[in-house]
Amino acid sequence: MQPLAEQVLRWQAEHGRHDLPWQQPADPYRTWISEIMLQQTRVETVIPYFQRFIQRFPDLQALAEASQDEVLALWSGLGYYSRARNLHKAAQQAWQDQQQLPDTLEALNALPGIGRSTAGAILSLGFGQPAPILDGNVKRLFCRHFAIEGWPGKSAIQKQLWALAEAQLPAHDCGRYNQGLMDLGAGICTRSRPACDRCPLRASCQAYRQDQVAALPTPRPRKALPSRHCTLWWLRQGDAILLHRRPEAGIWGGLWSLPQQDEQHDLPSWLDAALSGPVGEPLRLKHTFTHFHLHIRVRESTLSDLPPRLEPAWRWQPLDELDQLGLPAPVRRIAQAMRTPT
Ligand code: SF4
Repeated sequence: MQPLAEQVLRWQAEHGRHDLPWQQPADPYRTWISEIMLQQTRVETVIPYFQRFIQRFPDLQALAEASQDEVLALWSGLGYYSRARNLHKAAQQAWQDQQQLPDTLEALNALPGIGRSTAGAILSLGFGQPAPILDGNVKRLFCRHFAIEGWPGKSAIQKQLWALAEAQLPAHDCGRYNQGLMDLGAGICTRSRPACDRCPLRASCQAYRQDQVAALPTPRPRKALPSRHCTLWWLRQGDAILLHRRPEAGIWGGLWSLPQQDEQHDLPSWLDAALSGPVGEPLRLKHTFTHFHLHIRVRESTLSDLPPRLEPAWRWQPLDELDQLGLPAPVRRIAQAMRTPT
């Protein structure tokens, strides 16, 4: 066995995580849900979301037969909502094709939202097959351990890392080995304060030997994030608030948001015409996406002469039933602020 795998397996048995909710029991479906939730999100944040999600959708069939609204509502607050939409679509596709998750790399990769690393995790942790993973934690660990220079997002570096991941794979206990890599990346070889003094790989770690730990992995070339501006309208009728379902493509796709106005989008004419009463501006906030900052101005007014029936992408939602819908995180913050008496 490769020395790295041996060390990781030995360490994982004693110090690794064995009782995360998706490990008890670990099956392909639960592994898949957890892996998708864990993309860009910390374990502590994911745990309650995972538990609620699994309680409502305990298996592939339950998820495949759910409505998108219900799936998004249980995802609300986790962010990166395309993950939830893809999860739902992939469940429908897998259920329709063979009533279970496939057990090959090619077939898993063909499902929406399942990349090579997620497929590797499902195969190794869920199906017990030998398959490498390369999530953010493992990339960082490998970049340091093998002193790989260059931003890991670059395709040449990715290729190099995948080749290493393949080469290090043990012939047995691959799921536990992958779990060990994730545990080490999350708890020992962390981004900002790696605990090299407690690391089982210290003796073979190139970055440690060369005093390159702080410099690796090479950071992404920096670009200042641009700013965008928008207005979100807080329009109440009694105890309900007017919401608009965002189109599938673009930010917050499929989520219910407040009516929005920005440089490219005006309010629909029926809504513009119904705005009446003084306009207040109770709140401003900023939300940062991976590729831009969004500066949000919240405006408040009253409505009169609304059309008797709203179009399907619009609805009045009771304020105490907002939890039942998938809402973007800033809209939940706004709802909370607007409902808290000052
Ligand atoms: S010795 Fe330090 S840098 Fe190297 S793998 Fe361990 S924690 Fe990471």
